Amino acid sequence: MTVTTNSSFASLEAWGVPRGGRLLVAGPCSAESAEQLLKTARGLAGSGLSILRAGIWKPRTRPGHFEGKGTPALKWLVEAGQAIGVPVATEVAETRHVENCLKHGIDVLWIGARSTGNPFTVQAIADALSGVDIPVMVKNPVSPDIDLWIGAIERLQRAGIRRLVAVHRGFASSTTTVFRNAPLWRIPLDLRTRIPGLPLICDPSHICGSTRLLGAVAQEAMDLLFDGLMLEVHADPKAALSDASQQLTPAEFTVLLDGLLLSRPTLRTVEQRTYFKALRSRIDRIDSKIIELLGRRMAVARRLGVYKRRQGVSLFQPGRYEEILQSRVAAGAKVELEEEFVTRVYQHIHEEALRHQEVAGMAVEREGLVAGGKVRRQKPGC
Ligand code: PEP
Ligand code: MN
Repeated sequence: MTVTTNSSFASLEAWGVPRGGRLLVAGPCSAESAEQLLKTARGLAGSGLSILRAGIWKPRTRPGHFEGKGTPALKWLVEAGQAIGVPVATEVAETRHVENCLKHGIDVLWIGARSTGNPFTVQAIADALSGVDIPVMVKNPVSPDIDLWIGAIERLQRAGIRRLVAVHRGFASSTTTVFRNAPLWRIPLDLRTRIPGLPLICDPSHICGSTRLLGAVAQEAMDLLFDGLMLEVHADPKAALSDASQQLTPAEFTVLLDGLLLSRPTLRTVEQRTYFKALRSRIDRIDSKIIELLGRRMAVARRLGVYKRRQGVSLFQPGRYEEILQSRVAAGAKVELEEEFVTRVYQHIHEEALRHQEVAGMAVEREGLVAGGKVRRQKPGC
């Protein structure tokens, strides 16, 4: 594991956050008009906001949707920030965006998820920022690839940017979950281990895709000791031109913040601690059985792989896979396991079992041990 050096990261105090406080970034997904920004900013004034956000150039998955108001909106954002005395931030994805932001006095920049995944884009932005002292927030890439995220941070570090923040906004996933982007908390936590000293905040809006679970995800981030939050807030969310379903009104935003427990009470009494320990050790025992059973299941898979190879039967049998999924989902339903969860678990188990079968089958091939004599060998070059 490589640990990136932390000496060059500024703490959040250099972002104007009081010691021990959290970085709070909020504002609309997109800047739509001067009035919309001003109204939203006024609604946010007094909430403890650190930075007012709004997208000026919007990366849209498909063409034909609202792509942001572009350069004219920079002035609206700066004015809205000045009206409430808070610095402003927007997303940059091209050298031209960076130049325009610097020209108009935008205080903070962020690199969006689609850009972080592209080293050419990040390098172009880093080059445009060389020698400029501006804070930059780096969202995680769309795909769950921690090295792309680290690479983007390193490119900016090398350009001399010291005020850097990583933003966890969830990851695209091929399976449907309750989230728009799966949180995969392990990845931001690994980032914190690999880059100690780098402030890390969470963007529950893009994780959730709706307002329904925002509070729970924000609370999870606080429990995991994230250094702050980025949330989408719009004066009139229903009328928003992008991400309408996930934006809060300023009043809802205040309610969400008020409901957050910034540090949960620790378990104090002896009874509490004993009960907690008992439950944990029960979980440990169950897990060791699960691991043992998985090991046994894979050992059987290897025997099956040897047998299939000897019989010349193909490894993957689609009918069998469907049968496994259906019967395991039905069994899971009886013990309160969600279909989606059981399907995901069995996709992994089946994939791993096939790998074991393949490895065991290849060993047979190498040893030339087939029933009745010779292994059918592939022609060279096939
Ligand atoms: C945004 O913050 O509005 C945005 C486009 O986010 P992301 O890059 O995380 O999708
Ligand atoms: Mn958005």
